[in-house]
Amino acid sequence: MLTIHSDDHRLHHGAGEFYRGRIVPCFEMPARVEQILASVAGRGLGPVVAPVRHGRAPVERVHAADYVDFLASAWDEWCALGEIGDALPYAWPAHDLRADRVPDHIDGKLGFYSIDAAVPITAGTWAAVQASADCALTGAAAVLGGERAAFALCRPPGHHAGPRAMGGFCYLNNAAIAAQAMRDAGVVKVAVLDVDYHHGNGTQAIFYDRADVFFASLHGDPAVEYPFFAGFADETGSGAGQGCTLNLPLPWGTAAGAYLAALDTGCAAIAAFGAQALVVSLGVDTFAGDPISHFKLESADFTRIGARVAALGLPTLFVMEGGYAVGDIGTNVANVLEGFVHG
Ligand SMILES: [Zn+2]
Repeated sequence: MLTIHSDDHRLHHGAGEFYRGRIVPCFEMPARVEQILASVAGRGLGPVVAPVRHGRAPVERVHAADYVDFLASAWDEWCALGEIGDALPYAWPAHDLRADRVPDHIDGKLGFYSIDAAVPITAGTWAAVQASADCALTGAAAVLGGERAAFALCRPPGHHAGPRAMGGFCYLNNAAIAAQAMRDAGVVKVAVLDVDYHHGNGTQAIFYDRADVFFASLHGDPAVEYPFFAGFADETGSGAGQGCTLNLPLPWGTAAGAYLAALDTGCAAIAAFGAQALVVSLGVDTFAGDPISHFKLESADFTRIGARVAALGLPTLFVMEGGYAVGDIGTNVANVLEGFVHG
């Protein structure tokens, strides 16, 4: 299986994030990708190639142009204030506040274009974010070109980023950009299967009213888990997209038995939808040893996830999302990919 990877991910390395009342080192760190790359090479899973630059056009198929402008210019605007740390938002247009106008000041823009404070912007963030989207687009092109599957080793991740907002370590929605590229290349029906521990609120928002992209997500119950404000079972799509969103929230402590049963439900829905291509938002923060999550999957269980996805028999693009147990992330990701290949 082809892996697409860019060293530019290292340009994005936030110093810290706000977590339970303290600023702590970012859980989303460059070492995650280095571990995955080592495992992909060690298992002999296939060639690793650099992404092809695709520019802004495919990005703006799912993100608003003013939001992309913001991401591209935020660091320079921040530096113009004479700040020396990472740019982080601290005020948001929640509830009854004005969400109909973009502030002039960078502090206001950071809040306007985000859903939380887990999105540090550094000097190299925009370069890394573009390279990450290019990994997904290059992977999509490989699958469209006839590859059975490809693995876009994206960093930063993307599934929490909505049409006009960053959040949860995510800036551009790599999986959604890839799914849209598949649609634009003529694939009539595309499915996104999100197996990250957290609900893919950004992907859901992008496709919520559309009948051409099915979104299925297995995740920690948002009643008790980030992103808290999306991912409930009664969110099923709207308008033409009614019935094209499937949320399968699961309780803390979920282990392989219940997880794989829910995965079967998601895969059956994707098959019933009639998808012709699949994008998998691949997070491995469902692992028992993950430092910020509460599921109980063991490393061997990830092989079974890969095999079940393979059973769909669809051209498949894996897009890297979360997973914060850095010592085990390589093993767990490689297990999914190996399970797919041998499934
Ligand atoms: Zn996650």
